[in-house]
Amino acid sequence: MGSICEGWINRHLTRRPLPQYAGRGVVEKPEQARAMGALLLGKPVSDRIRTEVGSEIARLAPHAAYPPGLAVILVGNDPASAVYVRNKQRACEKVGIRSVSRLLPSDTDEQTLLGCIEEFNDDSRIHGILVQLPLPSPEHEATAIESIAPLKDVDGFHPLNVAKLFEGQPYLVPSTPAGILELLALHQVPIANSRVVIIGASNIVGKPMALCMLHHNAVVTICHKYTRDLAAISREADILVTAVGKQKLVTADMVKPGAVVIDVGITLVEGRAVGDVDFEPVAEKASLLTPVPGGVGPLTIALLLANTLKAYKTILGLA
Ligand code: NAD
Repeated sequence: MGSICEGWINRHLTRRPLPQYAGRGVVEKPEQARAMGALLLGKPVSDRIRTEVGSEIARLAPHAAYPPGLAVILVGNDPASAVYVRNKQRACEKVGIRSVSRLLPSDTDEQTLLGCIEEFNDDSRIHGILVQLPLPSPEHEATAIESIAPLKDVDGFHPLNVAKLFEGQPYLVPSTPAGILELLALHQVPIANSRVVIIGASNIVGKPMALCMLHHNAVVTICHKYTRDLAAISREADILVTAVGKQKLVTADMVKPGAVVIDVGITLVEGRAVGDVDFEPVAEKASLLTPVPGGVGPLTIALLLANTLKAYKTILGLA
């Protein structure tokens, strides 16, 4: 399939082994890694993507009047959202993306929010727009997303971009599933013909992940909170992706020996982020496993930067 689902790394980066981590295996050969319960770390992959994005922006600078611009709209004062927005801003600055944030009070009405989006839609110095979710008024979310110009929809949530992904002609893909594809590509995890089970069916992670896997010719099963006998289904997975937000949802008996396990979930336990996976017992059984924190998380922002660059190049005709 075309575009970003093919993998940023496949197109732009060389494949090198990851360093050793916390006493677990060195991923030098895929066969070796599969026997060792090695950890899949997001940061080395994220660092490479960021470096590539930064170099490409520097290369394009003489050809464009403005650098890429990303507008982030934050409604309300949720502390976690404020941290995410700050992290995105810092990441943008480091690679040469001009980042503009608009903070709106939590009682902002829909018209004001749409007006703000419209302003950025019309601004030729802005190439990517995202509305930080969740909104204090969740009933405004669908309209807000639909109001973002599809070319600038760097979260990939606009119905047109969802349809493009559905059709197998992706333009901007949500950054978490796109990041997971990069991680798997770097580690040469075969997707075609693999049995992939995804736990969690959200529009942000589970569903786009399923479509990406399907387009890579995996046999895909999506599970959710109404799925009966989750363990029997998850045990069939060569690649198990869990995106729920429930501590220890995935226990060792739910994992096929040698499976690749991707833990997207984040739950705060006594101020500490933990994933969905019962980490130690599953690490003994899986061939590759993403830790939380340090696994999928760092990739999400890196792919947002890659999406912003892609939107910039597309809008300016530099693609
Ligand atoms: P969501 O709440 O929109 O969706 C959760 C999904 O889990 C739903 O489909 C629901 O049916 C399913 N579910 C709930 N309980 C279940 C159970 N007991 N068994 C099976 N399925 C169950 O969440 P989301 O936005 O997709 O996020 C999921 C998790 O991933 C959250 O913890 C979130 O914080 C995390 N997340 C992490 C990143 C990252 O960068 N690491 C990015 C996005 C989301």
